Amino acid sequence: MEMQLPFEPEGEAAPSFRCMSCGSAEVHASRVRSAFWHDDRLVVVEGIPALVCERCGDQFYDDRTAIGLDILRGGGFPAEQAVRTVEVAVFDYGEAPAVRNVS
Ligand SMILES: [Zn+2]
Repeated sequence: MEMQLPFEPEGEAAPSFRCMSCGSAEVHASRVRSAFWHDDRLVVVEGIPALVCERCGDQFYDDRTAIGLDILRGGGFPAEQAVRTVEVAVFDYGEAPAVRNVS
């Protein structure tokens, strides 16, 4: 989901941008959070500037943000810099669950 944008998400309105997933023009600049695997750790980054599609909820980062996330990742997400921690529930897919009406 780290795609190039033709403008800065934090700048002025983006009248020409359309969602790259569903094509909707109802996209707004926001701050989002996302989870990343770092080795065997799952970490969450909040406050990421992104464009969010009102229709499908997909999020798009510009180049600068993608690079910033790479820099954070390269720093190894040291535990002492975490602003807080959350507990994460883990599930096992197990035997294939019954799946109906996959379209
Ligand atoms: Zn969309």
